Amino acid sequence: MVHAAIVSEPPKAPLSGPSRRQADTPSRGSALASGGVAEGVRVLKPRRAAPADALRATRAEINLAALRHNLRVVTRHATEAGAAHVWPVLKADGYGHGAPAVARTLERAGAKGFCVALLEEAIELREAGIRAPLLVMGGYAASAYEEIASRDVTPVIYDLGQVETLVRAARALGHRVPAHLKVDTGMARLGVQMKDLKAFAEAFAKQREVCITGLMTHLACADAEPGHTDAAFTAQQVSRFEEATQVLTSAGVIDACTVRHAANSAALLRGEAVFDAVRPGIAVFGVSPLAAVSSELHSAMRVRTEIVDLRAIEPGESVGYGALFRASTASRIATIPMGYADGLSRHLSNRGHVLVRGRRAPIVGAVSMDMAMVDVTNVTGVALRDEVVILGAQEGLLGKGAISAEEVARAGGSIAWEVLTSISRRVPRFYREP
Ligand SMILES: *Cc1c(COP(=O)(O)O)cnc(C)c1O
Repeated sequence: MVHAAIVSEPPKAPLSGPSRRQADTPSRGSALASGGVAEGVRVLKPRRAAPADALRATRAEINLAALRHNLRVVTRHATEAGAAHVWPVLKADGYGHGAPAVARTLERAGAKGFCVALLEEAIELREAGIRAPLLVMGGYAASAYEEIASRDVTPVIYDLGQVETLVRAARALGHRVPAHLKVDTGMARLGVQMKDLKAFAEAFAKQREVCITGLMTHLACADAEPGHTDAAFTAQQVSRFEEATQVLTSAGVIDACTVRHAANSAALLRGEAVFDAVRPGIAVFGVSPLAAVSSELHSAMRVRTEIVDLRAIEPGESVGYGALFRASTASRIATIPMGYADGLSRHLSNRGHVLVRGRRAPIVGAVSMDMAMVDVTNVTGVALRDEVVILGAQEGLLGKGAISAEEVARAGGSIAWEVLTSISRRVPRFYREP
């Protein structure tokens, strides 16, 4: 049943939303049309937090030039592999870097669309003045799609209940609603399962209000080392994705204009499963998910604090909750005002390292909620207020070094994604050009 007021042509922009209709500049005919940075649209600059904004010494410094560099790197990989669109993934507050500032920086640098997990994250970006199309990838119950459709974003759908809600929303709005369809090719997380695809397609084809502008899937093992048994998994997912494309094309659900996308950072850097668009997340923030690939990426986040207390302890004396560390020799212990509530994982207790004066120093004892202790016995001349680097590079009187998100992840039994997204909101972000 077609509502009279619903436009007959599906929106051409794969991530298009109402912004496309509202944009006052004409479409330039690209796949994302004027949803991107249209001429005459003022894109806001990142707000730089001034040092005076934050009293605490613990802060995350975000290097905006590194973000732009990484966008160029992933765009070059995408172009070489034949993908026309790069949509950076800015979920979880832009992997902890502050999504609004990251989005403004990347939009100004030419990014033509972004992916987020939550509608809430998309709304935050719109309120920050982001005009580029936004794809909301997370899972929502069907009832939420009424709200999602009324916002200036493109939802991802994977069940008929969601389609029904979108059809109702489209009728109320008086225009067709675009959506991307997700198929499950092996991740078993979100998406129409292959066995249900035909039935889904037949039911979907009965309405005209929702149009599929994008077809997507997500890869489970894109970062597996070549030769590892999981490496064949991606090839299998790709062949299922091709099969899904055929089923949906014959049912008339998608056509040659539908933008297909599967690649995360690992797949993109490998040149695997690169279809029409790519969704790099971690690579944009300067972390390569491929251990084997020497990275051309620049890490964008540096987390630093300062020593707020310093003491000498005798052999046999202990440090922190549970007396988890006991000094074997006379030691100097520095206290830093960063704890697990700031994103310094408790799993780093007695395991992690920091940089002081350019030298590595071990975290000793249990990391507590707001503070942690560091053994600075070997840091000659160590003093109160010395800078302590938790993540990133430091050059000091005793040398220079760097601690990567991968290193922190290994020490704490985690992954770089979790390390970055754990830096909590109470750590102020300072945005810097280098
Ligand atoms: C998080 C996510 C990505 C980005 O993954 P990275 O490994 O950070 O590049 C892409 N697609 C989907 C569906 C995701 O959830």
